[in-house]
Amino acid sequence: MGTPITTIELLSFDGFDQIAALPGYRPDNPLCQENYHKILGWYRFPEKRTCCVQRPGGTLCGTPHNHGWVAELKDASVTILGADCANDKFGADSAVFKDIGLALNAKRERERQQKLAHLLGQGVEYEQRLRDAIAQLKAARRGIDEFLDGVGANFRSRIESMAKSGNASVVVEGIKTRHYKENGKRKQENSVIKHVVGSLHGLAAIDRQQFVSLTVEMQHIRVAFIDAKATGSLSRTLRSEIARRIEQCDSVLMRAGQLEIMVARFLDNSAWPYCFLTDDRSERSKVAKLAMKHSGVEGSREHAKTWLLLEEAELCQQLGVERIRIDR
Ligand SMILES: [Zn+2]
Repeated sequence: MGTPITTIELLSFDGFDQIAALPGYRPDNPLCQENYHKILGWYRFPEKRTCCVQRPGGTLCGTPHNHGWVAELKDASVTILGADCANDKFGADSAVFKDIGLALNAKRERERQQKLAHLLGQGVEYEQRLRDAIAQLKAARRGIDEFLDGVGANFRSRIESMAKSGNASVVVEGIKTRHYKENGKRKQENSVIKHVVGSLHGLAAIDRQQFVSLTVEMQHIRVAFIDAKATGSLSRTLRSEIARRIEQCDSVLMRAGQLEIMVARFLDNSAWPYCFLTDDRSERSKVAKLAMKHSGVEGSREHAKTWLLLEEAELCQQLGVERIRIDR
């Protein structure tokens, strides 16, 4: 059984020459369960090197790998093996495989500590970035709320239910009435066609809860950066909790950035489909004013009502229907 990995300092090699320079290194030095002593460290090279695990028949594995492990044998000589070869050739119960498991944990823990130290080194910048992101997210949400509140409750509730269902299409029903005579009597029959007026972008930005939870997460990370300055006097559990939070920093900032982009996409929607989300006349006239503006015509809400009637009449003509009904 090898030396417990946790008590030794694992080496990392990023060039083959560093391994070749070890006094015990021998090229094509066979590694088997019987001669294995311990794991010295791991390697990652730009080029591939062949694996020295000995097969039952005596030949070497020979698979080329650019990352794997450096092992010391009982005779103090040194050899290399590919990343997954110990499991493939010796099995999960072997000392080599178990040591590699421990070494992998030690490697990950070291990388984690290095990453953490790097993050902490930039603590001041991160605190500022988090502060900025919290403020930007708040402003972005305010933009959505001001827009939705500015139109009205029916419009808001329709947009919210579209966001929940994930269905971004705005559909209207065109009604066509056929008049005919049967047995001398006048009769009529309605037929309905569906028409997609447009599709809304950035609906994923509507859910308010994500703004709340992201902001809370960012605040927690900010506090963790502040707390980390005093880690010397903190318990191990608390230290690892602080570390866990700080490690989330980049991914949380990225999510905040994505949400801001989503908000921008939502606020950038064409207002034309908005005219067909609710029957409420006052709310419709507000979005119609916006849609009219987008089409290049400035004017009052009264002006916009007439504009919408004319646009709708044109749409009816295009669809060959008599009237348009809002599809909910
Ligand atoms: Zn191998």
